[in-house]
This record gives sequence, structure tokens and C-alpha cells, in this order.
Amino acid sequence: MDMQGRVALVLGVAKKRSIAWAIAERLHRAGARVAFTYQGERLEKNVRELAEQLDPEALVMPCDVTRDEDIQAAVAGVGERYGRLDAVVHAVAFAPSEDLKGRFTDTSRAGYGIAQDVSAYSLIALAREAQPYLEKDGGSLLTLTYYGAEKVVLGYKVMGVAKAALEANVRYLAAELGPLGIRVNAISAGPVNTLAARGVPGFTHMLKHHAERAPLRRNVTTAEIAETALFLLSPASSGITGEIIHVDAGFHIMAM
Ligand code: NAP
Repeated sequence: MDMQGRVALVLGVAKKRSIAWAIAERLHRAGARVAFTYQGERLEKNVRELAEQLDPEALVMPCDVTRDEDIQAAVAGVGERYGRLDAVVHAVAFAPSEDLKGRFTDTSRAGYGIAQDVSAYSLIALAREAQPYLEKDGGSLLTLTYYGAEKVVLGYKVMGVAKAALEANVRYLAAELGPLGIRVNAISAGPVNTLAARGVPGFTHMLKHHAERAPLRRNVTTAEIAETALFLLSPASSGITGEIIHVDAGFHIMAM
């Protein structure tokens, strides 16, 4: 799974614990040059410090995925610096906390729209901008989803609906961009203790329940998710597109 000479753009690093950070680190170890984005000034220092650990010259750019111009600028920034883009990691999601705390039936119209915009639509906008680069060298686009898209996970609510849309986006994008040589896949990750995850009511219980029920009787690590991400972003997975691969210690196969 050699990424020598390839360039990756990673969206969604917030902290060291972020899934996106583990993926960026793994891509770097496989030889890729990695560019980063951060959302808002609050995260800039953190993301810059992390990025510098991998590469003092790393490209670090602001990008709020609800703004088309930010996505355009981030992709253009990579193009200007490196002249190519081979791998894109979309590890971004958000839903207003009020819509996660209350009843699903009371989901607000605004909250529903925000969750869809940040967590699902942004993949389409990113694919559109990255297409001219990805189609040149047979690039790969990867997003992160969760089992709450397939089954009801109490507490996940409007986020589960957004992830269901995200998974459908993966398939529609894969079908349309496949003839151009671009692959689009998702990892459905088991619960990991990150900033975003702690916003989900009952998350600690989810972690415990998952570890008890999963065939491997444990939770997954960000390193395990990153290993599969590297596979999906590298030529090692050249025959795979439109796929949702579960990296969840087998949890999703269990009924009783
Ligand atoms: P994380 O470290 O909190 O990362 C989520 C990232 O999304 C943060 O960097 C966050 O920035 C960013 N974000 C939110 N709104 C944004 C916007 N408008 N524009 C740009 N970035 C925005 O959490 P994570 O768990 O690693 O999440 C990464 C992905 O994995 C998400 O798609 C998540 O749903 C998915 N996932 C997570 C788990 C889990 O259990 N942790 C399981 C399955 C799938 P801010 O901090 O500024 O909001």
C-alpha cells in the first residue's frame, strides 16, 4: 500500500484523537504528502501543530464545508502547491446538540438541514471540486460513516439520517465518477471516543455495549480505521468502489 509520490487532502482533523488524524499519519507513513483543513480559528493552532509533526512544510488551510468557496479554495490550494491530488478524506460531521438531545420526532427543520449540509452534501461538493485532479491519476475519495445509518441507534437520531444520505451519496458518486477512474468508498467505523462522538447522548454506554456485543469483544482503534483507510485510498483497492466497509470489530453482523 505504497503512497509514494501521491498527494492527499484530509478534512476533519480537530484533535490528536480525531479519526482523520490517524488516517493522515498513516498516509504520511505510506509516503503520501498530506494537506490539511481546519474549521474555524478555534482549531487552527491545534491542526497546524499536528500537521507540522508530520511535515514542517505541510499545507494547512481553512475550510468550512458549508461554504462552496472554502472547498474550492482548499482543493485549488493543493493543486497550486503539488499539481496533483490523489486521495481525499472526508471526515466531517455535525448536528446541532438540541436535535440530538430531544425526541427524534421533534427534530427541527433547521437542524435537519444543517446535519445534511455538513455531513452529507459536503461530500458531493468536495467530489465535484476534486474531480479534475482525481480523474488525472485514478484518485480515490473516502468518507466516514456509522451503523446508525442502517439501524436505529438511540441517541444518534438526525445524525443517523444524515449518514444514510451520506452512504447513498457514496453509491451515486461512485456510479457517476467510476467511468472517469475515480473511486468513492466509505468506512463504517465502530464507536471511537472523539470530540464529535462525545456530542452523541449515551456515547459511553454505546462504547461499552459495542465492546460486549461485537464478535471481537472490543472496540476498534483509530489505527485500525486508518489501516483500512490507507487500503481504500491506495491502488491496493483498485477494484473496489461504492463500498461501505465496516471497521467495527464485527458488531454489524450481530442480531441477538
Ligand atoms: P472529530 O475529531 O470531532 O472530527 C469531526 C470533524 O468535523 C471536526 O474536525 C469538526 O470540526 C469537523 N466539522 C464539523 N463541522 C464542520 C464544517 N462545517 N466544516 C468543516 N469541518 C467541520 O470526530 P471524529 O469522530 O474523528 O469524526 C470524523 C468522522 O468520523 C465523522 O464523519 C464522524 O461522524 C465519523 N465517525 C465517527 C465515529 C466515532 O465514534 N467517533 C464512528 C463512526 C463514524 P469542529 O470540531 O470545529 O466541529
